[in-house]
Amino acid sequence: MTAQIIDGNAVAAKVRDGYKARVERLLRQGITPGLAVVMVGDNPASEVYVGNKVRACRKVGLRSEAFRFRADAPQEAVLERIAALNADASIHGVIVQLPLPPGYDMRRLLEAIDRNKDVDGFHLYNVGGLVIGETVFPPCTPYGVQILLEHVGIPTEGQNVVVVGASNIVGKPMALMLLQKEATVAICHVKTRDLAQFTILADILVVAAGKPDLITAPMVKRGAVVIDVGINRLPDGRLVGDVDFEAVKERASWITPVPGGVGPMTVTMLLGNTISAAERAASPRL
Ligand code: NAD
Repeated sequence: MTAQIIDGNAVAAKVRDGYKARVERLLRQGITPGLAVVMVGDNPASEVYVGNKVRACRKVGLRSEAFRFRADAPQEAVLERIAALNADASIHGVIVQLPLPPGYDMRRLLEAIDRNKDVDGFHLYNVGGLVIGETVFPPCTPYGVQILLEHVGIPTEGQNVVVVGASNIVGKPMALMLLQKEATVAICHVKTRDLAQFTILADILVVAAGKPDLITAPMVKRGAVVIDVGINRLPDGRLVGDVDFEAVKERASWITPVPGGVGPMTVTMLLGNTISAAERAASPRL
């Protein structure tokens, strides 16, 4: 069996097309959805991600602004900026680009964001919503995975899902979202003994560990759907995921490539959350 490739760029383009009418409706009401990105330090990968977000906003008619702070800026200055953005009615979404340099209290900064503008979905209020199945702003990467699965028509109800990686921004919310969709979910992490005994049971395997070639072909059930969230830069400059793509695609039924799989969906979902935030601000009943 050779897997069908899940083309994240194509799905992302289609989802973004669907945003056009919503943005136009807002523009007719005199509202341009606005996203503010707060960035501290000069992490090169973060620079790339922020650049992508700003460009993507422009393409779908959203306004975006990046607020940069030096790595030694006082935390209070960042908190003041967040407070100003919370109070700015022309800004509908506020995100803090992660990771932060050492010395910053990530939770304090994330909790400072107005929960109605928390378009990354990292505020405790939104995390709580995810736990009880009343998501306000679903975190972008796992939400992107969910949309990919829906798009290619892969049902999750009753499926065995194994999520490899238990971070607060990918693994845990991913597991909660698929649990909400009535999948049977196992979460594995760096301390899991014998990872393969779990992965081999997966009908849907989502991998977000940040370890190239962590998942090899014998660890994958024949016909499984494999979603590779990992993004790793190899010493030779190549960008790869966590899955041995060439070997695993001979066992899986569907697989996401890296790049061009989950990555384009993450930014797309951020745009979607920002549009939703603007719609809710325009009609508070939403
Ligand atoms: P993280 O470092 O915060 O968490 C990694 C998780 O993987 C941890 O729970 C850890 O226990 C687990 N893990 C690490 N090594 C493991 C191993 N050998 N076996 C089993 N579990 C292991 O990372 P993160 O922020 O969740 O990101 C994970 C990966 O996803 C990274 O490569 C990151 O670049 C990528 N990522 C991609 C997107 C995207 O849009 N495609 C978005 C966010 C993160």
